[in-house]
Amino acid sequence: MHAIVIGAGFSGMSTAAYLAQKGYRVTVLEKHDGPGGRGRQWQSEGYTFDMGPSWYWMPDVFETFFGHFGKKPSDYYTLERLDPSYSIFYEDGPMTIPASMDEMEALFERVEPGSAIRLRKFLQDAAYKYEVGINDLVRKPSRSVFEFADTRVLKGLLQLDLLSNIRSSIKKVVKNPQLQQLLEFPVLFLGATPSNTPALYSLMNYADMSLGTWYPQGGMYAVVKAFHQLAVEQGASFQFGKEVSSFEYANGAISAVVCGEEVIPCDVVVASADYAHVDQKILAPAYRKYSPSYWAKRKMAPSSFLYYVGLDAPIPGIEHHSLFFDAPFDVHADAIYTEPRWPEKPLFYLSAASKTDAAAAPKGGEALVILIPTAPGLEDTDEVLDRYFHLVAERIKDHVGFDIREHMVVKRTYAYRDFVKDYHAHLGNAYGLANTLDQTAIFKPSLKGKLSNLYYAGQLTVPGPGVPPCIISGEVVALEIQKEHPLAL
Ligand SMILES: Cc1cc2nc3c(=O)[nH]c(=O)nc-3n(C[C@H](O)[C@H](O)[C@H](O)COP(=O)(O)OP(=O)(O)OC[C@H]3O[C@@H](n4cnc5c(N)ncnc54)[C@H](O)[C@@H]3O)c2cc1C
Repeated sequence: MHAIVIGAGFSGMSTAAYLAQKGYRVTVLEKHDGPGGRGRQWQSEGYTFDMGPSWYWMPDVFETFFGHFGKKPSDYYTLERLDPSYSIFYEDGPMTIPASMDEMEALFERVEPGSAIRLRKFLQDAAYKYEVGINDLVRKPSRSVFEFADTRVLKGLLQLDLLSNIRSSIKKVVKNPQLQQLLEFPVLFLGATPSNTPALYSLMNYADMSLGTWYPQGGMYAVVKAFHQLAVEQGASFQFGKEVSSFEYANGAISAVVCGEEVIPCDVVVASADYAHVDQKILAPAYRKYSPSYWAKRKMAPSSFLYYVGLDAPIPGIEHHSLFFDAPFDVHADAIYTEPRWPEKPLFYLSAASKTDAAAAPKGGEALVILIPTAPGLEDTDEVLDRYFHLVAERIKDHVGFDIREHMVVKRTYAYRDFVKDYHAHLGNAYGLANTLDQTAIFKPSLKGKLSNLYYAGQLTVPGPGVPPCIISGEVVALEIQKEHPLAL
């Protein structure tokens, strides 16, 4: 049975590995010239940048994935837990976030006496949510509400806090605005505001503070290479530089995938390329699962401006991961979610992988990635990108007294239009749909298409955006295929 996987991002590679392991003949078709998708790498003049993901969180998900193939992450790459995990620049200076829980509690106690004990309780609840969330909820194909009828979800609905928002639960833990922002930060990965995100997602605080921030030597791209190698070891074959343009159909199913002039017969298709693009642009109108208005109404997670910058000198006062929260969060959030516009004073993220990984930059230099979340769908121009670059460079200078513009050897920008061009990203989204309650589980675009042998994987379907969910997405879809298109005995 020939399964074609469209796209070699994390979800596509995960799907390919699982299907190949089960004995399917798997071909992965990828429009770029190598694997990784949003996790690709860019190299220039001795500098190396992870183009997308840079936070390695939830190491247990990676262990489980490799474990399914009798392997360990350490068979492919070396992991290091970062300490400090990251730092946050507030208006009045930086706060360094320690890896150890004892030091974390001491930090909370110092800033807000009496808060450490509430943090401990909050993280105990979060640990329960993580356990149910990662081992149970996210592994549901979410094709019917009845899948959830027999789980701990129903028994523990109140304990899981699905119906309250995370901002109000964080306010019960700490009153100090800086500690509140620290606890709200992981939710930003989910692409919605804390007041619009179910309190269930305090499981992200458990991931942050208890499970920690890790770094794979060689960057996230080392993990991409590992996934690719593992899928190949399982027997999957990858064809790069192959963009799928249409399908051929027979008997309510896809009979072949078309790449330009080439027609490749298949029995099953998993589309891990952006869902909206496959649904609206590659499929013939009669076979589309959703309407244009359905896609227009989806709440997208932010797009991003990214700057990849190589410096000829070390930047002082900066950790591997730094968050610049020296501007009002709600004003920037309003410019992303409520009234989409360019933010006046955006929050931003600065990665300096060269602080941990000497190979990321030439000796004495620094490899930086700057990310500014922006509303999806705004039209960017070189002028806008340039203006924001100077704005963040000034803010970095104000905090650490070092002007990155005076030490730049390489600089590349990446924005809305690049997400559209490179990934066919719906509205230029960087990380898929916002994880609001009305876009969770059965309310997400379904992993099953309208045609009998078409499935979806990746950040726009269940369980959602982020590398760990995309890895799980591959496992879930492969299990569905084994049930509905089993191999002949
Ligand atoms: C800037 C940024 C920072 C992020 N930071 C983090 C982080 O720190 N930690 C984390 O866990 N997650 C992070 N994420 C999210 C995470 O990277 C994504 O959710 C995940 O990588 C998406 O994987 P995917 O397989 O769904 O999609 P993709 O990686 O987009 O893969 C889809 C693939 O399909 C290919 N494709 C598209 N159309 C076609 C076609 N017609 N034919 C053939 N191939 C096609 C694309 O080229 C692409 O390779 C970040 C994302 C971005 C953009």
